[in-house]
Amino acid sequence: MTYDIAIIGAGVAGSYIARECSRYKLKTVLIDGESDVGNQISMANSAIIHAGYDAPSDSLKGRFNAAGCLMYEKVCQDLDVPFKRCGSLVVAHDEFEMLTLHDLYQNGLRNGVPGMQILFQEEVHKLEPNLADDICGALYAPVAGVVSPFEMVAKLAENAVDNGVELKLDTIVESIESNDGYFTLGTNNGEIKSKIIVNAAGLYADDVYELIGEPYFELLARKGQYFIFDKEVGDTVENVIFPCPSKKGKGILVSPTVHGNLLIGPDANPTEKGDISTTQNELNFIKEAALKNVPKVGTMFGKIIRNYAGTRNTPIKTEFTTTDGDFIIEESPVKNLINVAGYESPGLTSIPAVSYYVMNDILLPILEREGIKVEENPDFNPKNKKHIYFKDLSEEEKIEVIKENPKYGKVICRCETITEGEIVDTIHRSAGAKSVKGVKKRCRAGMGRCQGGFCSPRVVEIIARELNIPVEEVNYDLNGKSYILTGETKK
Ligand SMILES: Cc1cc2nc3c(=O)[nH]c(=O)nc-3n(C[C@H](O)[C@H](O)[C@H](O)COP(=O)(O)OP(=O)(O)OC[C@H]3O[C@@H](n4cnc5c(N)ncnc54)[C@H](O)[C@@H]3O)c2cc1C
Repeated sequence: MTYDIAIIGAGVAGSYIARECSRYKLKTVLIDGESDVGNQISMANSAIIHAGYDAPSDSLKGRFNAAGCLMYEKVCQDLDVPFKRCGSLVVAHDEFEMLTLHDLYQNGLRNGVPGMQILFQEEVHKLEPNLADDICGALYAPVAGVVSPFEMVAKLAENAVDNGVELKLDTIVESIESNDGYFTLGTNNGEIKSKIIVNAAGLYADDVYELIGEPYFELLARKGQYFIFDKEVGDTVENVIFPCPSKKGKGILVSPTVHGNLLIGPDANPTEKGDISTTQNELNFIKEAALKNVPKVGTMFGKIIRNYAGTRNTPIKTEFTTTDGDFIIEESPVKNLINVAGYESPGLTSIPAVSYYVMNDILLPILEREGIKVEENPDFNPKNKKHIYFKDLSEEEKIEVIKENPKYGKVICRCETITEGEIVDTIHRSAGAKSVKGVKKRCRAGMGRCQGGFCSPRVVEIIARELNIPVEEVNYDLNGKSYILTGETKK
């Protein structure tokens, strides 16, 4: 099959753009080297939907952040993704930091951020009683929010596939050639031919581009580590709490998560691509930084349920690059190849606006230029099939649901109250779960206090049964390196 559009990378960028493509009658393929969608940067970030006051207004980040933020309700409603506009505070400890807040406020106005306010000491502490006493003011942005990034990517990919996009996982793009107006992508999984390529390969977008183009941007991996706390202390803050930003970034935040946990992090340190290890020194640094704004965190370190790390894909200046830290979203010097690269924070927030731009301002004009007829997809359905969130149902609803499908009457993950019915549902959706981690990302079985200690064996059995494979073939992740069972010990 020859495609109109091949999208390399099924993170939030590639999956969202694929869904935009599925609004049209186009032959689109979404390719990822991993065995699940959203398994790299889009899986390990702060999950904040930023209001949009920090990026310079003449940058692409400034252009798309505030717009993307305001588009989140609609897409999350359509796809059934948990999202909450909890608000954010950038806090100041002295008059110099207060000046920074005023600069951010003015920049936010230029970027179109609605509803911002500068709050003074008393108002800040009224809003957030657990903040440090010496905090003398804050920039309040009520539109900031928190989302579930795992569910976001899985459900974007599901919707794209349901609307006609082909998803190819376990498919690493290793070479790109251009012949007779088509690209040929050489992969470990056979050749793929396409008229147009969208390079949304995250941390590896520079390497993917250099398979065919001369280097003009380079990405630096910068790791950020986190603590995630039990729900018992999830209400320590209501808003996302940021320190005043520095040259290194937005600083160590203390944030509620959309599912009711508490999150602190991330730091920012250069590392190797692919390194997502967590390290004691850096975690200690994060802890100290968080205490400056929310001292109560110091009493809560017995409630940590997990540490994790994510890696930023920061575009850097070198002798051959023309980038200055902004997103790279353009048709590249290689005709018909579009880069969505250097796509670091606020990439999660910006993606609804970025995808609209990529489709309407880049892809549609290229398709017209190349003489490819583009018609709207009359069957496009923006909505996903609703999930049943069993624990949120009323008693009557629970009884009804169990009557229809008794699997909803069997709780598998006790920490998060996730039923067998929900797990089976995530396995059988388009772009569905095939591993223990895939189930965890989509319906939270294993995300709770015991981190899967109790439910993982049950989840393995359910996956094996539903996919009709031996239990030994069910992995934690599907990268071939994370097997759980090797065979029976007793017959
Ligand atoms: C620590 C941290 C905190 C962040 N916090 C926030 C935040 O709070 N709010 C916010 O808005 N943004 C945040 N971001 C930024 C946001 O997470 C990213 O902008 C976004 O997730 C990037 O998505 P992506 O699809 O470009 O990359 P990815 O999710 O990495 O997807 C790229 C995909 O390409 C695939 N791939 C790579 N090479 C190949 C190849 N050769 N062949 C096939 N497939 C390939 C990979 O497997 C991967 O799945 C944060 C980022 C980090 C690292």
